[in-house]
Amino acid sequence: MTILTTQRCFFNMKNLILFVFIFSTQVFSQVTERSFEALVRNDNKKPVIQEVTLTDLISNDSFDGEYFKIVKGKSDEAIRFDAESELTFRAATAYYHLTVARNYFIHKVKSDYVKNLKKIVVRIELTNQFSELGHFANDKLDPQYNNALTIPAGEGLSSRGVKPWGNEIWFRPSKKIHIRDLKTNNLANREFSVLMGSFRNQIHMQSLQRFLAGAVIALTQDGAPSPLSTENLIRTVGSSIIMEVGYQFLDPITKLFSRKWYWLDTAVVPEIIYHEYSHVALSDHLVLSHSTAIIEGMADVFAGQIANSPKLAMHIKRYNTYNGKNAERKQDYMIQFEMGEYANTDFVFGMLWEIKKILGEEKGEQFMFELRKKLTTSSNIRVQLIEGILQTCDEVCTVPFLDKLKILKSLNLKGL
Ligand SMILES: [Zn+2]
Repeated sequence: MTILTTQRCFFNMKNLILFVFIFSTQVFSQVTERSFEALVRNDNKKPVIQEVTLTDLISNDSFDGEYFKIVKGKSDEAIRFDAESELTFRAATAYYHLTVARNYFIHKVKSDYVKNLKKIVVRIELTNQFSELGHFANDKLDPQYNNALTIPAGEGLSSRGVKPWGNEIWFRPSKKIHIRDLKTNNLANREFSVLMGSFRNQIHMQSLQRFLAGAVIALTQDGAPSPLSTENLIRTVGSSIIMEVGYQFLDPITKLFSRKWYWLDTAVVPEIIYHEYSHVALSDHLVLSHSTAIIEGMADVFAGQIANSPKLAMHIKRYNTYNGKNAERKQDYMIQFEMGEYANTDFVFGMLWEIKKILGEEKGEQFMFELRKKLTTSSNIRVQLIEGILQTCDEVCTVPFLDKLKILKSLNLKGL
């Protein structure tokens, strides 16, 4: 009898423990959503501040989710919900659009790689340069602003106390530069849109940041670090077209469009967030070792796709150097495009966007995603990209023979 009672009691305890366990996981899993104000585009694709729901959160009090953890600077701790509002606004906006991008890759192009990706640490307000050995370069070494980048995972350096890290996305703080400080001679004291137009129409052969970097060198004379140094500009937030659309963005804090100031608050620009996440999503084939015209062009294509914005599409159609209607300086292929410093010109972006148009929206999207399998980070445009495009067409196109003819015709027109 006694034994039986004890046994029954034991079973009851077990059931109780099981019950508590199930109950607690249910309570735990209920805390996955929370509303925040974030910057989104409205139906007219204008930037507006709106309440959004963040999903898959695993914390009650910080931006720590199942797939993303948003931290400030070099910290390992997620930003708390009760941190200052400028910070939580950026964290919520980045978290929200990263989730949009992740869902796109899982549900639209069915990426198993993205589905199984480990949680990504996302750093905002980080000025340090990336160091392959040390994770973060020394604080004093040329701090970075107005930019974003995606870094590859690293093994760390236990002898120096550097822990291993996974793929990460870094958003730089924005820093305002007055137009008068830009050494652009004839453009000094004009509105920034004039500078943009000048960049787009006359220069257009280099990345916007490189263009600005050349313009801003004089700033270093007082000993202050140049906000846009000529070094370390290899990885930028996308081609000039993506940046220009990002630049034409409402400042969420001052609620002003900039006229005479340049800055780019990358953590709140949807297209830039999509561009950076696309680098991670495509990294099963396009590893994140360095930037090339192809790797940037591919990330831009998916940023444009996820944004699904007619305004952006029109902008691409008008101004891309490959075949833009209103691009004053349309550009044939040049051997220089193969080099890293031209990674952010929009030639490859315009080229891939045109191929997508030739194949039709649905097919084109699937095509671009399959194309990554034929490419690596060291592929060049003239040989591997073109071969990759034709091979992908054999596998994906509805009528490969005809579609390849159309593609080749377009490429030949551009000197390829
Ligand atoms: Zn990029």
